[in-house]
Amino acid sequence: MTNIVVLVKQVPDTYSERKLSETDHTLDRESADAVLDEINERAVEEALKIKEAGEGEVTVVCVGPDRATDAIRKALSMGADKAVHVSDPALHGSDVLATAKVIAAAIQRVEGVDLVIAGNESSDGGAGAVPAILAELLGLPQLTHAHHVNVEGSAIKVDRETADEGLTHLEASLPALVSVTEKINEPRYPSFKGIMAAKKKPVETLTVGDLGVDAGEVGLANAWSSVVESAPKPPRSAGVRVEDEGDGGTKVAEYLVGQKLI
Ligand SMILES: Cc1cc2nc3c(=O)[nH]c(=O)nc-3n(C[C@H](O)[C@H](O)[C@H](O)COP(=O)(O)OP(=O)(O)OC[C@H]3O[C@@H](n4cnc5c(N)ncnc54)[C@H](O)[C@@H]3O)c2cc1C
Repeated sequence: MTNIVVLVKQVPDTYSERKLSETDHTLDRESADAVLDEINERAVEEALKIKEAGEGEVTVVCVGPDRATDAIRKALSMGADKAVHVSDPALHGSDVLATAKVIAAAIQRVEGVDLVIAGNESSDGGAGAVPAILAELLGLPQLTHAHHVNVEGSAIKVDRETADEGLTHLEASLPALVSVTEKINEPRYPSFKGIMAAKKKPVETLTVGDLGVDAGEVGLANAWSSVVESAPKPPRSAGVRVEDEGDGGTKVAEYLVGQKLI
């Protein structure tokens, strides 16, 4: 029996234009199509695979605006059992610390949690920090950047893959927290039956106050870091064209030297 909490975030579609708002430099989420974060789709898939290999329940936890309900329903239509949605205007512009505090409070309301599964990073903020902060706040062992996860009774075994260290084998006792990478699995597509069933699955919607978190600890005004200035990235330039009249290699090398790339 493994009761799993999986953390999902709604993010702007990577293929739509993403921009910062001119007023407070936070991400302008309204101007872009929103999707369930791709790495979080794999976190949901991993949670379902562990549940299907044994017994247990999968609870989705999401901190996000009202429209994040679509991302939650996607996770429920894949097969998750229920969800907790923390939605509160006070959260606008929250930094990673505040986000992790709110997620920790939401997880502590879920009974008998054996395993928390997160993405190793998100595709919008990309801090790659929430899982570690959460493990600290919840006092859980953390097994991060998982490439492979195996739950055996009350033990969890993970193969971590990072660019620097290659493959590392980690083990811990449950309860524990795992963050997964985008390479861990191929998420299933929700079936029509799954999509219909998701409409009836319970989603508990909570405010920061419901969680007993002080609104004075969250939001842009209380963030430890803030964006003071932002400018749209310059349009891509056409690039340099090299005509190869037998000296193409030399010209490319001269160009790379000129760009201080070699
Ligand atoms: C462009 C941009 C720049 C930012 N820069 C900073 C900064 O410099 N410092 C700072 O403190 N904050 C910053 N933020 C805010 C930060 O992104 C948010 O606090 C965010 O909710 C958490 O950070 P993350 O998505 O980067 O987290 P990561 O640590 O990258 O997320 C890892 C995993 O945690 C889980 N998770 C993250 N957020 C949520 C959520 N809201 N609900 C459920 N699960 C979640 C997901 O499983 C995710 O895959 C930035 C946001 C943006 C969009």
